[in-house]
Amino acid sequence: MNKLDSIPEIFASCVFNEDVMRARLPKDVYTSLMNTIANGKEIDAGIADVVAGAMKDWAIEHGATHFTHWFQPLTGVTAEKHDAFLSPVGGGKVIMEFSGKELIRGEPDASSFPSGGLRATFEARGYTAWDPASYAFIKDGSLYIPTAFCSYGGEALDTKTPLLRSMDAISKAGLRIVRLFGDSTSKRVVSTVGAEQEYFLIDEDDFKARRDLYYCGRTLFGAPPVKGQELEDHYFGALPTRVSAFMKELDQELWRLGITSKTKHNEAAPSQHELAPIFCTTNIAVDQNLLTMECMRKLAPKFGMACLLAEKPFEGINGSGKHNNWSLSTDSGKNLLKPGKNPGENKQFLLFLAAVIRAVDEYQDLLRISAATASNDCRLGGHEAPPAIISVFLGEELEALVNSIIDGSRYAKRDTKYMSLGTPGVPTIRKDNTDRNRTSPFAFTGNKFEFRMVGSGQNIALANIVLNTAVAESLTIFADILEETVDFDRTLDKILSDTFKLHSRILFSGNSYSSEWEAEAKARGLSNFKSAPDAYAHFTDEKNIKLFAKFGVMSETEMRSRREIFFESYRKIKNIEARTMLEMTTRDIIPAVSKYIGELSTTVNATRSACKGANLSCECEIIEKLSASLAKAYEAHVALERAERAALSKATDEEAAFFYKSTVIPKMDALRKIVDDMETVTARDAWPMPTYGDIIFKI
Ligand code: ADP
Ligand code: MG
Repeated sequence: MNKLDSIPEIFASCVFNEDVMRARLPKDVYTSLMNTIANGKEIDAGIADVVAGAMKDWAIEHGATHFTHWFQPLTGVTAEKHDAFLSPVGGGKVIMEFSGKELIRGEPDASSFPSGGLRATFEARGYTAWDPASYAFIKDGSLYIPTAFCSYGGEALDTKTPLLRSMDAISKAGLRIVRLFGDSTSKRVVSTVGAEQEYFLIDEDDFKARRDLYYCGRTLFGAPPVKGQELEDHYFGALPTRVSAFMKELDQELWRLGITSKTKHNEAAPSQHELAPIFCTTNIAVDQNLLTMECMRKLAPKFGMACLLAEKPFEGINGSGKHNNWSLSTDSGKNLLKPGKNPGENKQFLLFLAAVIRAVDEYQDLLRISAATASNDCRLGGHEAPPAIISVFLGEELEALVNSIIDGSRYAKRDTKYMSLGTPGVPTIRKDNTDRNRTSPFAFTGNKFEFRMVGSGQNIALANIVLNTAVAESLTIFADILEETVDFDRTLDKILSDTFKLHSRILFSGNSYSSEWEAEAKARGLSNFKSAPDAYAHFTDEKNIKLFAKFGVMSETEMRSRREIFFESYRKIKNIEARTMLEMTTRDIIPAVSKYIGELSTTVNATRSACKGANLSCECEIIEKLSASLAKAYEAHVALERAERAALSKATDEEAAFFYKSTVIPKMDALRKIVDDMETVTARDAWPMPTYGDIIFKI
């Protein structure tokens, strides 16, 4: 192995992390900065210049010429604006400069970022503020400084600000609980996240040859291929050479950025893959997941490929999600969701478990919203994807324990199971007590919960904001009671049994993909928002406003603006998709099919004149079929065009979003059906774009 490739050597080599700070900052400055990071305190203005100077020197030594405040506006992707370090010193000369002020605060023009009505035109200004808890790093010759982004009036315009606030909320609430169980030393309770990222890699030429992929990141037409994923031969299969080369370079790039890319493999669908990092503190996990997605997208063309992060690039083929593994630990690393050898006796674990179950049940709607986007709507409820109903899977053993607490029966702990494979030399292996249920949207997996609804292209911040805040509320309610009680053990047992009883409807261990579950969930009173707009409408329900206000995570104004933005982006995405379909139909598909009909007709005429008795029933039937379909396609096109025009005239984004859902999408589906049928009877060479079969089996 090339020495440069050694992981420990390159790991975090582009990150201004604790080691670099210790080595480069004066001791008192370093200590003060570490205090700021550890306790979430405000930075001492006096040290900012020193930190900035050290950062700049380090960055320049690593080849950087620019710096950028890097932030996460509500567009779902990241934003950056680069400034060179240079500063004129007279005599036509410049020096490299970077001040504390520039480090701490930026003033980007906020007018082009979504604000959901928070920004009047005369207040185009916005601020970015350094988040010292997330390390600065170097990429493409720039020093990236992770920042929060807010409006001139101080409202958060990004996903990071409420996330940091929610982490603070769960830390405070969690600390109160661990103190009650005798932990007097922990300073913080930290939420941790490991985000498994699914994605597709396809040939770049195919990507460019389809306007739907190019404009929308997913196909809007496409007949199912003859072979799909039924053989399941792709999952965990050997990596194709090109993919393997891509993954190797991606790993190197991520390691340099301090991202612990750990696992990579083929996913279930052809051309689908997964990358998983090792978990870390939530805000860093969010930053790193965004960086990972960006690196994937940018690196793929180098290998002649395009990376698709959309949730459902191909109809009828598995979609991509992001498994958001979430847990809680103390700052010293003790996992608070670890059941231990004897979960029945581990009351602290059971209390945290109860807190999560309560939170998920009370705020099903918010969790659903956190995974609701126009493109994730195409995935949820489809192949291998959780339905729109939220439920919690605990696994056989924990479920039995929770049930025994509910009905007051004795719980018999199961023995650890071992199995021998009966093969000499192969060791006996221990079976995990938490089994797996891949169909559950929210599954307990040993010492963490795995929220599987989030879409592959999404920012995971909102999902974790909701989890942190909702669980913080449960913990706060429990702490309020437990801190006052004179009989701690009895009160604790009562909280556990009351909570499990009250929220048992959210527990489900069966097949979440089945239609029976949909009916049962309804009977249990669980919510089932099938589309993103249906879910968005509930974001500002009173209980939700109260929750976020209580913990200072989002104000009502911030929530209302976000609700606007949800609808606005849904409207925009659907608008682009509808227009792309219209354009593809008139400019690619109709001309191609019409030309093919013309070619067949020429053949028919020529054959007929060459041989009077020739049997032309096949050609004639195809001509008849295609010309009838063509007429129907055009009709469907006109209907879609009309609906799209009607959508444009809707006064509000909310109205438009619902109109897209109820009226435009069915018209898109209708047009697609006709076009996909035509695809199956049109000659391969005559079809104007690569087909599913061409694309997904190529690499
Ligand atoms: P799988 O879901 O396939 O079983 P793993 O067990 O490898 O996968 O874990 C998946 C992800 O969960 C990884 O990113 C891992 O780092 C993360 N994870 C493990 N423990 C925790 C934890 N305590 N908090 C958050 N994420 C965790
Ligand atoms: Mg997983």
